[in-house]
Amino acid sequence: AISIKNVSKQFGDTVVLRDINLEVPRGQVSCLIGPSGSGKSTLLRCMAFLEEANAGTILIEGEPLGFVEGPNGRRKQTAAELRRTRSKIGMVFQQFNLWPHMTALGNVAASLRRVRKMSRKDAEEKAMAQLEKVDLAPRAHHYPSQLSGGQQQRVAIARALALDPTIMLFDEPTSALDPELTGEVLNVMRTLADEGMTMVVVTHEIGFAASVGNNVCFLDHGRLLFHDTPEKVFAAPRNPRLEQFLDTYL
Ligand code: ATP
Ligand code: MG
Repeated sequence: AISIKNVSKQFGDTVVLRDINLEVPRGQVSCLIGPSGSGKSTLLRCMAFLEEANAGTILIEGEPLGFVEGPNGRRKQTAAELRRTRSKIGMVFQQFNLWPHMTALGNVAASLRRVRKMSRKDAEEKAMAQLEKVDLAPRAHHYPSQLSGGQQQRVAIARALALDPTIMLFDEPTSALDPELTGEVLNVMRTLADEGMTMVVVTHEIGFAASVGNNVCFLDHGRLLFHDTPEKVFAAPRNPRLEQFLDTYL
C-alpha cells in the first residue's frame, strides 16, 4: 500500500505538486492521467524518493519514506533505512535504460548481483525465471540492440520484478513504443495486476486505465483534481478539464 498525505513539491519558485492526498491500497492499481507538465512524473518520483517532497508524508507499506518519527521528533532516514523502504518499490520508465553491453539476462542478473549480492549462478537462475514471466526466455541471450522496443521494455519490467518489490511504479511505459508494440507490454502489466501487484501507472493509454485501473487519478497543474473508479471518472458528464484532456489524447 502507498499512502500520500498533503504532499507538495516545488522546484525553486515553481510549484509542481499541490497538497496531494492519495491512497493506493495493497493489490490495487491506480492510474495517473493528466496533461503534460501536470506533475505526474514528479509525483511518481516522489513515491520512489527519486525526488523529495517539500511537505507532506509518504508511507510505503505503512512505513514512512525518507524520515522516521522517533522519541526526539522527526529525523531523516539513514541510508540503510531508506534502502530498506525503497527496496519495496520497483520502477519502470518510458526509456528502458538497459545496459547496451549486457544481454537481456545480463541486465536482469546485474541488478540482482549488485543489489542482492547474489552469486552469478543464482542471479542468472533468478533472472531467467523472471524473463520467462515476461515471455522472453528465448531472447535471454540477445543484446538490447537485437530486441524490439516492446521486448526491451519487458526486460526492464523483469529487471524490476527480480528484486521482489511489493509495489510497481510505471511512468508512461509504452510512450516510447510503436503502437503495435504497446499491447505486449500492457499485457504483461495486466497480468501483474491480476496477480495482485500494487501498482501506480502514469499512462495515456485510456483503455488500459479504464480496464485495469481500480482508481483513475486526474492531475492538472499539480493538483489532484479528482480520483475515482474508471466507471465514475469516464462516465458522462465529465469534468471540463478532463474532457479537454481526453479530446487531446483519445
Ligand atoms: P509529461 O506528461 O510531459 O511527462 P508530467 O505530468 O510528468 O508531464 P512532470 O515531469 O512531473 O510533468 O513536470 C511537472 C512540472 O515540473 C513541469 O512544469 C516541469 O517543467 C517541472 N519540473 C519537473 N522536473 C523538474 C526539475 N528537476 N527542475 C525544475 N522543474 C522541473
Ligand atoms: Mg512525465
